[in-house]
Amino acid sequence: EDVHLESFPIHDVTVYVLTKDNITEPMRDIRRALLEADVSLPVVRRFVSSVTEKALGAGTIKGVRPDQQLVKIVHDELVQLMGGEVSDLVFSKGGPTVILLAGLQGVGKTTVCAKLAFYLKKLGKSCMLVAADVYRPAAIDQLTILGEQVGVPVYSEGTEAKPPQITRNAVEEAKRKNIDAIVVDTAGRLQIDKAMMDELKEVKKAVNPTEVLLVVDAMTGQEAAALVTTFNIEIGITGAILTKLDGDSRGGAALSVKEVSGKPIKFVGRGERLEDLELFYPDRMAQRVLGMGDVLSFVEKAQEVMRQEEAVELQKKIMSAKFDFNDFLKQSQNVAKMGSMSRVVGMIPGMNKLTPAQIREAEKRLAFVESMINAMTAEEREKPELLAESRERRIRVAEESGKTEQEVGQLVAQLFQMRAQMQKLMGMVQGQEAIAGMG
Ligand code: GDP
Ligand code: MG
Repeated sequence: EDVHLESFPIHDVTVYVLTKDNITEPMRDIRRALLEADVSLPVVRRFVSSVTEKALGAGTIKGVRPDQQLVKIVHDELVQLMGGEVSDLVFSKGGPTVILLAGLQGVGKTTVCAKLAFYLKKLGKSCMLVAADVYRPAAIDQLTILGEQVGVPVYSEGTEAKPPQITRNAVEEAKRKNIDAIVVDTAGRLQIDKAMMDELKEVKKAVNPTEVLLVVDAMTGQEAAALVTTFNIEIGITGAILTKLDGDSRGGAALSVKEVSGKPIKFVGRGERLEDLELFYPDRMAQRVLGMGDVLSFVEKAQEVMRQEEAVELQKKIMSAKFDFNDFLKQSQNVAKMGSMSRVVGMIPGMNKLTPAQIREAEKRLAFVESMINAMTAEEREKPELLAESRERRIRVAEESGKTEQEVGQLVAQLFQMRAQMQKLMGMVQGQEAIAGMG
């Protein structure tokens, strides 16, 4: 066996701390990423200062670069900004659930009607579509065709009747037929105008909808904030649907919705087909906005491997020179896990690349180290000096683990070497913290 403990990647123990100096540059990248994703400037400003504050108060994670830690903090903040949790449709307790759709022309309202009908059908709910966009006959035809595709009835009174009356009649029809939910398609304009708002207000007053969902095109970008604000103040929305996320947009509009209206995004549209409507997941959107999915999953996995408390515990040990074979074993296991992790998430910039051969090697070495540590008594693990001082003990461990006396000697030497190395490292970290504390 050509196993050399010296090349075991356990030597690569690095402790990182977020400081004013080392977050400046990554913070600039994040700011740029947000602006490129069409998040509006005031939102970005507020956001950057709150993240900076949180970052400087954060602890350390071994082996994770400061900018990666920072991205994780940013990601979590973004998720919170977008409401944190998934927000599904609300259903009416008595009588049919009425879902009123609003939004500018061409954003995808009529398409969303059909998609929602499809979604409701999958939930086992009966559904009816309502044609309340009465200004273009083509709009009614479009809804009728979509209704046939999904297999749900479409309620229409042609182009003569008024939307509030049509909607009221549709609700009566739904009650008679015991239909669970109706989705009301309305007319949009290219720009916000008073006639459109007034009509929506009247429809809302006529039927008191369970949901008033504003349909927003993801490509709207920075203007989304103003749009959502106006609709929310004028008619009062219960949520939003973000469409055309299959396009080039990185979805920054999503951040503005909750921020300016306090109302959640409930669904996203990702294409023209019926099944291209999904519940909105704030965490997925945060990753999209940052465009750094790999880094995020890496940081998360690193945290799983090395829980914060465990790191603190280990650091205490190191500082008091108590780093023993139990810690050594834990550390070896972590390194092996990190190795297989790098294979899973792909290359992370800045992380020492381990080739598949090196990963196999790390796993092999873990088994090698483990067998020797397992052969030690509890006392020997806690007091490595015992093994350093006694050749008899080393021979016993060698025999029990099927290794040579020399190999056990190397392992013991390595532990003391690591103690020294870590003490040096701790000195550096404390120095860095002191410098950061000077401001
Ligand atoms: P409305 O004027 O708001 O009713 O918009 P429509 O529902 O008529 O949609 C306008 C156009 O956008 C149509 O060509 C749709 O096929 C398209 N569309 C709607 N939703 C999506 C989406 O999520 N992704 C893509 N790529 N196209 C969409
Ligand atoms: Mg339409």
